[in-house]
This record gives sequence, structure tokens and C-alpha cells, in this order.
Amino acid sequence: MFQSEVTRREWLKSLGLGVGAAAFTSVGLTNREAQADFVHKTDKTTGKLLDGSQAAPCTLQVDGSIVRPSVSLPKISETDVLVVGAGPAGCCAAIAAARLGVKVTLVERYGHFGGLATGGLVLHVLGHWTKQDGKSVQVVQGIGEEMMQRLEAMPYGIINREFARNPTLDAEAYKYLLVEMVTEANIEVLLHSWCCDAIMADAPDPKTGNPIVRGAVVQTKLGPQAIIARQVVDTTGDGDVFYAAGAIHTQREYDIGLVSRIANLDRVNPPAGTKPPRYLGDASPVPGVRWVNMAGPSLDGCDVRVLSELELKHRKQIWKQVEEVRSTPGYENVYLMETAPQIGVRITRVIEGVETLTLENARAGKEYDDCVAIGGAWSGDHIGWQIPYGALLPKNIENLVTAGRSISAEPFMSDLVRVYPNCWASGHAAGVAAALAVKSDVTARDVDIPEVRKNLLAQKAYLG
Ligand SMILES: Cc1cc2nc3c(=O)[nH]c(=O)nc-3n(C[C@H](O)[C@H](O)[C@H](O)COP(=O)(O)OP(=O)(O)OC[C@H]3O[C@@H](n4cnc5c(N)ncnc54)[C@H](O)[C@@H]3O)c2cc1C
Repeated sequence: MFQSEVTRREWLKSLGLGVGAAAFTSVGLTNREAQADFVHKTDKTTGKLLDGSQAAPCTLQVDGSIVRPSVSLPKISETDVLVVGAGPAGCCAAIAAARLGVKVTLVERYGHFGGLATGGLVLHVLGHWTKQDGKSVQVVQGIGEEMMQRLEAMPYGIINREFARNPTLDAEAYKYLLVEMVTEANIEVLLHSWCCDAIMADAPDPKTGNPIVRGAVVQTKLGPQAIIARQVVDTTGDGDVFYAAGAIHTQREYDIGLVSRIANLDRVNPPAGTKPPRYLGDASPVPGVRWVNMAGPSLDGCDVRVLSELELKHRKQIWKQVEEVRSTPGYENVYLMETAPQIGVRITRVIEGVETLTLENARAGKEYDDCVAIGGAWSGDHIGWQIPYGALLPKNIENLVTAGRSISAEPFMSDLVRVYPNCWASGHAAGVAAALAVKSDVTARDVDIPEVRKNLLAQKAYLG
């Protein structure tokens, strides 16, 4: 930590501690030990954990199989609506539910909100404009629109916020905004909590015979911990909760890339006639900084071997791309500002819902009685398409809805569903539905759809 002993002494001196470094260090350590002991609630003599959790490692059996023992888990929270995954869909779901006055817990495996839009550096806000009767209409509104308006009020928050145009946001501004909006809504937040299992009721639903979700287990530094909930919203993008709960789904493979940002583009000075290099990406709200998208191969985005291999491969490729940019006369000062901390997994698990979005229905402008959102296409030159609540609802599991890129859709429609304004809209709908199910004490399947639509409209969502 310290460059040299002199620097360290100077630092201690500046704290008014003179050269009593040894005393300071030992006091500091003692305090830290006491703090750690308090957090872990260990018995001082036996060293056993006192918070209900037990060390229960797996055993390697003589036949080579690995067996996990059955243990009871500590309960970290009990909530009305548990939202797992704090990406664009999850944040909208959590905020929408909390604004209806229920207790909401938002769980996220990383240390920040925003999912691929922030950690994945995906900055281009596509798919919220459509063409209806020759006129451009913004179909994603509600909480998504509120986010864009608030970004607009922030320095370097968003650019190109114009009629019928796809804007570009800044990842750090969006991370900050989400902290503001989530805390304003009084949401219980559990970061660094990786959902690794679903918690099911001990008996199926008497009406449908389907298993009922009652919460989720998160893997934390203190071991696995349980969250009990009345309704669960799976916004992990990869359907980690519905997968663990045994929901019928399909597994897809689609372009896994890695996005990066390059900087100093405001300092390029190419001689006249120089052909601009490849890999310059697109403008971002920060002057001189551009974001560079990547397609990548279509492989299984839930397989850690695949993900590990691609992380290494993509990083090498990005470095070479930037070297190529730098080797162009006038572009020598361009540098790689960052590679996305989160690999760009586009589509993996997709739920088999009560309704499935199809291209044919989208093109025909099919109308659903349970329409809870309208989606748009990338370019804004197409008609909007309705998202029915049934596309969020698993066929064979109760008290669980999904939103975002994993909702029920044919492959082509999944490609439209996944752009993040459409994830804002389905997340908004999922949050409202889950909150109303809690308030009227019904399953997510039995929630009153006209009431969901009424509340969505009250929260300024666009339903056509
Ligand atoms: C390379 C790339 C480029 C793209 N380009 C564009 C574009 O230009 N414009 C556009 O609109 N869209 C684009 N997209 C699509 C868009 O970014 C995503 O589809 C969208 O962010 C999905 O939102 P989501 O909330 O469903 O999921 P995600 O953004 O994936 O968020 C899921 C969240 O859940 C968390 N999570 C996952 N598993 C767990 C777990 N087990 N426990 C706890 N937390 C968990 C994740 O950390 C994440 O925060 C692109 C996607 C990629 C990969």
C-alpha cells in the first residue's frame, strides 16, 4: 500500500500519530479483528458460526461423486416482492413495485445496478420508437422515460435525446441515477449476492398443481443465505431463478461479445486524406470517448468454460484493435479506456410462457387483452408490438414472473425483446403485477390484469 517507509511515516504524522506506528498498527488490527468477529458472530472458544449457518462442505465420495449435505440456511430477509437481477428490467421492476407501497428487495450479483447497460457498457438506447400511420411514436415510456429525462438533467448523462432518435447514455451516470432512484423508492438492496437456488413451497398450488416459488438462495461471502418472498421477479437475464425452480424454458446461443470504450478521440489530428481506421465505435456522452460494440460467437452464455475462453480472446482482440487505431497517422494518442467488466451475453435461457411473442403476430399488430407493454424495433421504422402479461408468466411455476431479455419469445422476437428500453417496459409491468399480486393476496397468475394496466398507466407507461 505504501510506496516507502518514509511515505508511511509522513502519512501517520499527518494523522497526528507521530512515529508511534507500531502502537497504531496493533490498535488498528485489534479493532478490525473485533469487527470481523462481530460480523461473523463466531463463538470465541469453539470458532463456530452463531448466525444459524453451519460450515457444511461437500464431500468427495469413494465412488468419485460429490455430495452436498442437507443443511438449514440463515434467513437474510423476508419481503413482499423479491427482484433478482438489477439490470434495466430488474431496476424498473423494483422501482415500480416499491412505488405501489409493498416491501421490495433487490438482489444483484455485482456491486452496481444497470446490468449490461452499465457493467456491459451497452450505451445505445434502441427500440423505443415506432412508426404508426406514418408518424413516429415513443412506445416505451413510464419509468424508462423518467430515467432518460433524469439523465438529460445530469452533466454528460445522455446525448441525442431527440424526437424519433435513439440516444446514447453514459454508464457511470446511469449507475449513479439508479442508486438515486432505488434509494428514493426505499428498496432493500442486497449487492454481491449471487442467486444460486430457488426456494419452493413444500406443497404445490392446489388449483394448478404447479410448484410455488417462495424465495431464493443467494451465495454470499458468509455462505448461502435465504430470502423469503411472497412474489419473485426473475430479471437475471439468464433466468437463473426460473431455471432453478424447474420452469420450462429454451436455451439459446447468440453472439457473445465484449464492449469497450476508447478515449482521446478529441485529440486526433490526421493528415488530410487519411482514411479513418476501423474500430472507432460510436459517440458517447463524454467528449472524446467512444463506445465500441462487438458481436462475437454464438455459444452457451451460461457455460463458465465458454465465458472464460471468450473473456481472454475478446480482450486480446480489443487490444489489437486499439493498436490498429493507434497505428493510423493522427490517431497515436487514442487509448483503451476500459473493457466492460461484464461480458456481453445477449440471449441464453428464454422462458416458455403462457403466451409467446411471434414475428407473425408482431407484424400483424396482434392485440392482447393482457397487453402490459409495447415494444419497438431497433430502427424506429416499424410498428409497435404488444407484450402480453402471459409472455412474462411461466407455464408451470407459480408466484414467479420474468422480465427483460428472458421473456417468452421466438428467436427473432427475442432479438427485439432484449434491447433495453423493451426490458425497461417489461420490467415495469412485472413489478406492477408482482406488487398487485401481493396486495390482493393472489398468485401472479391470478392477478387482475385490468388493475395492472390501470396502475401502469398511472405510472405513465404507454399501452397504445
Ligand atoms: C454486446 C451487447 C450489445 C448490445 N447492444 C445493445 C444496444 O446497442 N442497444 C440496446 O438497447 N440493447 C443492446 N443490447 C441488449 C441489452 O443490453 C440487454 O439485452 C439488456 O441490458 C437486458 O436487460 P435485462 O435487465 O434483461 O438483463 P441484464 O442487463 O443482463 O441484467 C441482468 C442483471 O442480473 C444480474 N444477475 C444475473 N444473474 C444473477 C444471479 N444469479 N444473481 C444475482 N444477480 C444476477 C446481472 O449482474 C445483471 O445486473 C446489447 C447486448 C449486448 C450483450
